[in-house]
Amino acid sequence: HKSREGWHWTPDTGLQAGIPSIAVIEPSQLIRNSKDIFDVIVIGAGYTGLTAARDTSTTGLKTLLLEGRDRIGGRTWSSEIDGYPYEMGGTWVHWFQPHVYRELSRYGMKDHLVHSTDYTKKHNFFTLRTSAGARNMSHEEEDELFARAVGKFVNVDGDFGKTVMPFPFSAYSNEDVFKYANLSVADRIAQISHDLSSDERHAVEAFVLLCSGGTTENSAFLDFLRWWAAANYDYKTLLDTIIVFKLKCGQSGFAKRFFEEALASGNLSYSFSNPVAHIDSSKGLVQMRTKDGQYFSAKKVICTAPLNVLEEIEFNPPLDRAKREAASLKHVNQCVKVHAEIRDPEMRSWSGVTYPDNKLVIGVADGTTPAGKTHCVFFGCDANHMHADEDIDQTLQAIQEFAPMEIDRLVFHNWSKDEFAKGAWVWYRPGMEVQYLEALRKRQGPVLFANSDWAAGGWRSFIDGAIQSGTEAALTVRQELMPILRTSRL
Ligand code: FAD
Repeated sequence: HKSREGWHWTPDTGLQAGIPSIAVIEPSQLIRNSKDIFDVIVIGAGYTGLTAARDTSTTGLKTLLLEGRDRIGGRTWSSEIDGYPYEMGGTWVHWFQPHVYRELSRYGMKDHLVHSTDYTKKHNFFTLRTSAGARNMSHEEEDELFARAVGKFVNVDGDFGKTVMPFPFSAYSNEDVFKYANLSVADRIAQISHDLSSDERHAVEAFVLLCSGGTTENSAFLDFLRWWAAANYDYKTLLDTIIVFKLKCGQSGFAKRFFEEALASGNLSYSFSNPVAHIDSSKGLVQMRTKDGQYFSAKKVICTAPLNVLEEIEFNPPLDRAKREAASLKHVNQCVKVHAEIRDPEMRSWSGVTYPDNKLVIGVADGTTPAGKTHCVFFGCDANHMHADEDIDQTLQAIQEFAPMEIDRLVFHNWSKDEFAKGAWVWYRPGMEVQYLEALRKRQGPVLFANSDWAAGGWRSFIDGAIQSGTEAALTVRQELMPILRTSRL
């Protein structure tokens, strides 16, 4: 099945819109008992919505899943091209991420993890290109440089963050952490700039921008501190948790398991390519109108629309003031992610940074395609942002800036222009998290708000946070609609 989303380029075909994916759902609509009132409507079929819809439908609640796209997965989906899965969004997982690993284990997928890194091929080095020029170094030297620079960045308490954030899943347990609430990445760099060599400064800025997808000025320091804490205050563990282990079946193979389990319950109805426009919870039941003018009602709603598009849905009564403010401020992540199939198989062991003059900041070899070529993935951010689809020559040029490469294919999704995301994973502006996080999590009567963007755990912004958030929302709904499940939470 081909999704209307995503882009594919080869020298022969040129740029084409739409890529194949097992995430596309056909038929696009299945409404069981159309006259009935649903127990719960879940808006959005990303990991939050898929988890919520699975957990409500499998416990016997009549569930309707409404999704604007033609596919499941939201900001996480893969496209299988010539037998190889390219990840358009969320990719890497780790057993340190409790919610995602519980699901991998539950679906019998412990043997599905593969390594993105392979340091056995000829081009086994890291390229650093800064304004001062380019040079190669070993991966050991690369790790030492980044570990040193990132260590200085997070060392706000002389204890590498362990004192100010001892519990990443309870990030405010030490109130001292609020001292950093308004700090931007640029502010933090300024505090330590006397202690950074030129290489260290380029390394830490490039690395943090890879994580935030924003600019150093608009990205909060606090989000980084939480990632760092969740990864056990250690640079190598942080790499392992965010960019090393992926699924050989592609993320859509994982997401599909949630959807199929929900479907098998016999309680799931769904409608894809059917964006929700209006939610009215002013009367007893929640009434929903889609953009196409279809009406649905339910006792409860779990809305999983992400922060940057929350204001596209009209609510009656309106969203509370704090939610509206946060939704209009938006998070900053405008990550650009571009996959390239490179002819030379020896590039499999390469990685590089080009900063600050290039449109793409970080590139890493990520796999070998069935054709025996190297799959590399490149990341850019809001600083020096580009729309990869608008100017393919510019995109190819940005890749060539890392090192000369013969590029046989590009595959990507433009998250900035995506009408159902308007950005990548959440990264707050300075001050925003502390001011709005609680408000974003608050329900409004029968309407619950769940998303990785405001998940309660240490892995907010990750697939793990989405699964956590969907699990919690479904549990609340189940406890309210199925009194037998009403247990008190300690
Ligand atoms: P979403 O996936 O955004 O799901 C929300 C759904 O709601 C979407 O399907 C959307 O179409 C739908 N929707 C929105 N508005 C409406 C409407 N009005 N009507 C109907 N439907 C609507 N995480 C990791 O763990 N590891 C990674 O390596 C990683 N890398 C990433 C790389 C990129 C480029 C991106 C973009 C994200 C990455 N993430 C990663 C983050 C991860 O993908 C997200 O945190 C997670 O997928 C969010 O899931 P969600 O269900 O909370 O939100």
